[in-house]
Amino acid sequence: MRNRIILHYGELTLKGCNRHSFVKKLRTNVRKKLRSLEIAWDVVSIHDRMFIEIPEDYQDDIDNVVNQLAEIPGIAWLSKVFWFSTKQYDFFNYKPDLSNVETLIEKLANETYKKGNSFAIRVKRSDKRFVKTSKELEMQLATVILKNTEWKNVNLNHADQYFYIDISSRGMSVHTNRIKAIGGLPVASTGKIMCLLSGGFDSPIAAYLMAKRGCTIDFVHFTASNIQASKLEAYKVSKIAQRISEFSGRVRLYLVPYTHFDLALMEKNLDYDLILFRRFMARVAEKMANNLYAQCLVTGDNLGQVASQTMENIVSMTKSLEMPVLRPLLTYNKEEIIAMSRKLGLFDLCTEPYKDCCALISNTPKTKSLHEKLEHIEERFFPDYENLISETLEEKQVIAFQFGKRIDYV
Ligand code: ATP
Ligand code: MG
Repeated sequence: MRNRIILHYGELTLKGCNRHSFVKKLRTNVRKKLRSLEIAWDVVSIHDRMFIEIPEDYQDDIDNVVNQLAEIPGIAWLSKVFWFSTKQYDFFNYKPDLSNVETLIEKLANETYKKGNSFAIRVKRSDKRFVKTSKELEMQLATVILKNTEWKNVNLNHADQYFYIDISSRGMSVHTNRIKAIGGLPVASTGKIMCLLSGGFDSPIAAYLMAKRGCTIDFVHFTASNIQASKLEAYKVSKIAQRISEFSGRVRLYLVPYTHFDLALMEKNLDYDLILFRRFMARVAEKMANNLYAQCLVTGDNLGQVASQTMENIVSMTKSLEMPVLRPLLTYNKEEIIAMSRKLGLFDLCTEPYKDCCALISNTPKTKSLHEKLEHIEERFFPDYENLISETLEEKQVIAFQFGKRIDYV
C-alpha cells in the first residue's frame, strides 16, 4: 500500500472533445505547482481523476502539499489516499482477495470513530471488469466496520463520516477526507487577460475570479512615481500580485508611472479629471495588452461603488477602447467582496495603507459623463495624447511571480 494524492476535476468532465486538452493543461499546472514546492512527483490521469504518487521516503507534511494544490483552478476536490495496486487485491480474479483493504478500512474506522456519529461507504468502479458490484463491496466493507469496531449507525444519505473506495484498472484507492478545492477551469485553457490592479480590495478578487475560469493573467498598475528596483518586491501591489500567482501560476506585474498625464492634466484644471484619467489608464493598458496578446482588459469595477463607477462613467471608459473590458465584480455587494478577500488570504494585504491614484487625482469627481464630450475635451486639451501614452510606456517596470515565488521576467 502506498500514499497518493487524488485530484478530481469535476467540471472538466463536461467538456466533450476538448476534455483531453483541459486535462493536459491541468496536469501541467499541477506539475508546475509541485515544482514550485521543490517536489518532482509523478502525476498521472486515470479516467476522471488525477493521481500523484508520493515517494515512500517522503518525510514532510503531505497535508501542506494537499492544501497548496487545492488552490489550483480546475480541481473540484482532492484527498490524500491509500493506494493498492491491482496485484495487491487480485483485480481480475473472480474471487479477489480484499483482506488488505478490509484491514485498512477497519483501521480508518477506528481512527475516525465518534460516539453517536453515522457512517457510509461509497464505492465507485471506473472499471466494471472488477467482479463485485459497488453495492456488494459497500455491504462487505460496512459489515467489517459494524462487526469489528464501535461504529453502530449507517446513514446512506447524510453520514457524518464517509469512507470512499475508487476502483480502476490500475488500482484501488481508499480515503476518508475530501478537501473542497476551488473548481473552475485550468489556467491557460480559456484566454489571456490584462487586469488593471489597484491597491484596493476589488481588482485582486476580479483577477482571482478570471483565473478560476481558466485565464492567464498579467497585471498593470499605475503609480504616482517610479519605484526603486530594490523596493519593488516589498511594494504593496507586488505582494498582491504575488498572492494571486499562487492560484494562477505565472503573472507579470507592470508598474507604470502616470506622471506625464498627471502633469498635462494639472495645467488645465478640467472638471472631468477623474474619468479623463481613467480613460488614459485604460488606453495605456489596452496598448500593453495588445503587445502581450491579451484578449480583454479586466477591472474590479463595481456598479455604483464610487464616482468612477457610475453607469455613465463605466460606459465612457469602455467607449474609449476597442478592446473589451470584463468586470467580474460589477454586481457584487461590498460584503461579498470582503468575504472573498478574507477567504483568499488577501484581506490583510489589501488593508495595508496605500494611496491610490484615483484618490490623488480628484477630490470632487464628476459622476456623469458622456463619451462624445470627453472625446472632444481630449482632442482640444491633449493634442499630443499618443505621445503621452508612449512616454508613459517607456517608463514601465516589471516584476514577475510564479506560484508565489519571484521569477525572472519571461
Ligand atoms: P479597488 O477596490 O479595486 O482598488 P476602487 O474601489 O478603489 O477599486 P476605483 O479607484 O474607481 O475603485 O477603481 C476601479 C478599478 O479601476 C479598479 O478595480 C482597478 O481595476 C482600476 N484601477 C484603479 N486604480 C488603479 C491603478 N492605480 N492602477 C491600475 N488600475 C487601477
Ligand atoms: Mg472598487
